[in-house]
Amino acid sequence: MGRFSGKKVLVLGVANERSIAHSITTELVKEGATVALTYVNEAIEKRVRPIAEELGIKHVYQCDVQNEEHIDKLFAEIKDAWGSLDGMVHSIAFADREDLSRRFVETSRAGFQLALDVSAYSLVTLSKRAEKLMSEGGSIITLTYLGSQRVVKNYNVMGVAKAALEASVRYLAYELGEKGIRVNAVSAGPIKTLAASGIAGFKDMLSVFAEKAPLRRNTSLEDVAKASLFLLGHDASGVTGETMYVDCGFNTIGM
Ligand code: NAD
Repeated sequence: MGRFSGKKVLVLGVANERSIAHSITTELVKEGATVALTYVNEAIEKRVRPIAEELGIKHVYQCDVQNEEHIDKLFAEIKDAWGSLDGMVHSIAFADREDLSRRFVETSRAGFQLALDVSAYSLVTLSKRAEKLMSEGGSIITLTYLGSQRVVKNYNVMGVAKAALEASVRYLAYELGEKGIRVNAVSAGPIKTLAASGIAGFKDMLSVFAEKAPLRRNTSLEDVAKASLFLLGHDASGVTGETMYVDCGFNTIGM
């Protein structure tokens, strides 16, 4: 019997084996959870289906978080399949690549809206649906980054989106707390993934990070997955509205 036996968890954001959501899913499955995965489009579906098969996951649905019909359909399907939900992992972000390399002041209105819509608003609209299925309480987590609080070169509009995401976590935690639903964010150190490859100068970030972080190394997928399971599970029963840093201590460093 794993720590998550009998628990039903929806995970959004697996793109490939290097995705943070993939490492969280792998740990959840190891701990006995029943998991559903989503994919944004056909290209990602081709990667997600074999991953689901390998992990013994039966429920795989399409969900582009910019599409409200997809979201309605996803939750209708989850309701049909499971009736209720215990956990949700939101591991989704997107910004126009150009906005992650040029000056922040050049961000277009459309680029700003896109980043905020996919990376922050999606948590709000997904949580609205999840709340209805979490009648026995539940736990929602999202993934964020230090660029929300400090200036990180080239993180630009994504930093603004992450600030909105972290504030959304606090407002959602307050409202959903009445129903015993906890909402938290994991602020991960930089990890080489598909999304990270869109940030100009990401390789340099990794080497500076490993040199300066108190643990003198980069954050691993396993570090993030273990902390995510803590927040998703009963051990964090009194924790909500938090942004938990899983970054080898990097955020604590001044000079
Ligand atoms: P990833 O590319 O593997 O995951 C990003 C996911 O977002 C992909 O599955 C992609 O399909 C999905 N996505 C993008 N647009 C979407 C849309 N419109 N609808 C539905 N899904 C959409 O990269 P990752 O690094 O695992 O990113 C996961 C989360 O972790 C993101 O929120 C990211 O900002 C955050 N994060 C990453 C790092 C890092 O260094 N990799 C650090 C801190 C936080």
